[in-house]
Amino acid sequence: MLVVDPWHWLDANGDLPTDNLRLRRQMLRIARFIEYGGPLKKLECRETLMECRKRPCGKPCTGLMWVAKTERDEIQAFCRVCGNDEAAVHNWHETEWANGMMEAVPINFDGTDNDRDPAPPSSGPPQSSTAN
Ligand SMILES: [Zn+2]
Repeated sequence: MLVVDPWHWLDANGDLPTDNLRLRRQMLRIARFIEYGGPLKKLECRETLMECRKRPCGKPCTGLMWVAKTERDEIQAFCRVCGNDEAAVHNWHETEWANGMMEAVPINFDGTDNDRDPAPPSSGPPQSSTAN
């Protein structure tokens, strides 16, 4: 089982690493465990939509990962089909994903409030130019 302190993999701002893609993928999987498991109360668990990565007997496990909040407030990720104990995550409380999914926001990609790339300048309805 992998014991993870996400701050060993995140950058100083708590963002996903961008220079090491393997580490980024690994951290993204941990971030999903945090997003699913962070809002749980102690000794609660839930199923996720994340596939188990184990290959028992050479075949991919068809199980979905579960997350549980332990009595010590760690997030454990495990598969109930093959029994894979994949990870135990501690020190997750200050990460961006600790409170679950992001809040819903109105669709407004023209503004600067959304944490997305700015819309290309050509987007939006065509401007009428009858005033020539
Ligand atoms: Zn499994």
